[in-house]
Amino acid sequence: MSQRPEVNRRFVLAERPNGPPDENTLRLEETGVPRPGDAQMLLRTEYLSLDPYMRGRMNDAKSYATPVAIGEVMTGQVVAEVVESNLDGFAPGDHVLAASGWQDYAVSDGTGVMPLGTAPENPSWALGILGMPGYTAYAGLLKIGRPKPGETVVVAAASGPVGATVGQIARLKGCRVVGVAGGAEKCAHVTGTLGFDACIDHRAEDFAARLAAACPDGIDVYFENVGGKVLYAVLPLLNPFSRMPVCGVVSWYNLAGLPEGPDHGPAIMGTILRMKVKVEGFIIFDSFPQSVYEEFRADMTGWIAEGRVQYKEHVVEGLEAAPAAFNDLLAGRNFGKMVVKVA
Ligand code: NDP
Repeated sequence: MSQRPEVNRRFVLAERPNGPPDENTLRLEETGVPRPGDAQMLLRTEYLSLDPYMRGRMNDAKSYATPVAIGEVMTGQVVAEVVESNLDGFAPGDHVLAASGWQDYAVSDGTGVMPLGTAPENPSWALGILGMPGYTAYAGLLKIGRPKPGETVVVAAASGPVGATVGQIARLKGCRVVGVAGGAEKCAHVTGTLGFDACIDHRAEDFAARLAAACPDGIDVYFENVGGKVLYAVLPLLNPFSRMPVCGVVSWYNLAGLPEGPDHGPAIMGTILRMKVKVEGFIIFDSFPQSVYEEFRADMTGWIAEGRVQYKEHVVEGLEAAPAAFNDLLAGRNFGKMVVKVA
């Protein structure tokens, strides 16, 4: 029988960042491996998901979720293996999706845990295309964006798990799809592998003009992932009665104060008014009924099996690499869904 592990490594929030997280933000600690009590199980993290929302959890600010407390394990979804179990329905060797955070081991009573079976084919996909980001793209696009065949859909962070999925679904629905991404390599992937009609590099000097040229009939659905200059370039292209699902504004997550430059408030509100734009923010955990999740699972597993949706991961090795990888994610140095292979 294999020996019981003794050490649990975990990242706790040491200090709230003011701007991008730095070396003082998270602290690596070693503790004993907890023992599961009655009706509990011990989980060993295999893959940790890194997601932009984690930046917001580091702030002590009013939001849809409670911030991570100082000294608390950094929050996050993981794919884990059950290594000990006193809990009915879970046995050693099972794989699960759990919210046990940035650490090697965690005890769980099964709350919020989703079984993935004993031999899932691509276990980490439960953190991406088949999980929260994939569902976000599906529900936000189809239930709020409501794209119709022939319409133009624009989405930024187009090579990431949300944007890539938004664009591919929009193509399946018969839309013209224009992606926005950082750099030539990402743009080549977005058009070549993902099949978008065009992809514009937001770092290009003439970005706004290139976006306009790629959207000759204007924009009917702008799936908002990033805010900032992409939003400003989109505004003059929005068509009457266009829709804007507001999913994220990642270019602003590290702001310590108001951004520099002109006040874009009048352009934003004026466009919403004159173009009768339907703007709707959503948070995937509580914005849609369970039936939408069931639709997503059925459609997405079918599309993947038929080869109609492609998926790319950016895997970094080792829990200790997580803080740097998280900063890479916020700065666009990831290429695909950012996942840490922990065990
Ligand atoms: P990604 O893996 O796509 O990573 C974020 C990407 O944002 C970077 O790779 C980078 O791509 C892009 N980016 C960063 N800064 C800028 C900038 N200044 N201008 C333009 N692009 C920038 O992330 P996800 O797919 O996981 O998430 C995408 C968005 O969806 C985020 O805003 C996230 O918060 C949001 N989200 C919201 C949810 C909800 O419930 N509302 C749920 C899940 C995600 P590039 O190099 O191509 O610019």
